[in-house]
Amino acid sequence: MVTKLSLNNENYYSKEANREYLSVSQFKSMMQCESAEMAKLNEVYVEPFSNALTVGSYVHSAFETDEVFRQFSEENSEVIFNKRGGKYADFVQADMMIDSLMNDEFALFAMQGEKEVIYTGNLFGADWKIKIDSINHERKTFSDLKTTQSLSKRYWSDKYQKYVSFVEAYDYVLQMTIYREIIKQNTGYEYTPYIVAVTKENPPDKAVIHFDASRFDFELEYVETMVPSILKTKRGEGTPIRCEKCAYCRSTKKLSKTFELAYLLD
Ligand SMILES: [Zn+2]
Repeated sequence: MVTKLSLNNENYYSKEANREYLSVSQFKSMMQCESAEMAKLNEVYVEPFSNALTVGSYVHSAFETDEVFRQFSEENSEVIFNKRGGKYADFVQADMMIDSLMNDEFALFAMQGEKEVIYTGNLFGADWKIKIDSINHERKTFSDLKTTQSLSKRYWSDKYQKYVSFVEAYDYVLQMTIYREIIKQNTGYEYTPYIVAVTKENPPDKAVIHFDASRFDFELEYVETMVPSILKTKRGEGTPIRCEKCAYCRSTKKLSKTFELAYLLD
């Protein structure tokens, strides 16, 4: 038996941790493009900087502690503050989103609990790592904060074969399902998930979203079907599948044949 790497806030996002454990974001990345994710794991590719990701982390940090928020703002001051000492538009918007939730008792109630809690577990033959935004052991609930464009925007989903909301489109139901299972393995209880959503609109819209329990079964079945091939690719067996659409695939693409027009919208 190989001893598993014990995870903490310092090593949670490390390459070592990402190789040993599957996370929901890694599962999603592998579903999108195995080739790009494997290139990241093998440290031959670094994802381009994303301002949207930094904005998301900024909003998150505001609901951890004042100290975490201050530290995050300091470490990312170059992307947050302009030369005149004001904030760039995305972060002015982010401040509105933070205020919108901070001024809402119900949203704050939904986010009450221990922050950034790490658990590991085994599901469908894979070792998983999860990091929960907020978990409340008294109420047996947990919540995840999400920023999005609009609460009612529709996205076409190949997975669900219909138009869905941002919650399904970004696989947040899948995320909540995996978290629920891993929390159950660690605590012995079925915790209830909530998503606290706030929009990038001016002024921001917001909602606390709960889930019909039947949704979890669908996601578990889906993950169970996909995990074996993902683990195989992670072990280095077989060639990772290229999506031919993402930044990594575009940057490494070599043309060798022509395509009929219909291929473009495939
Ligand atoms: Zn790709």
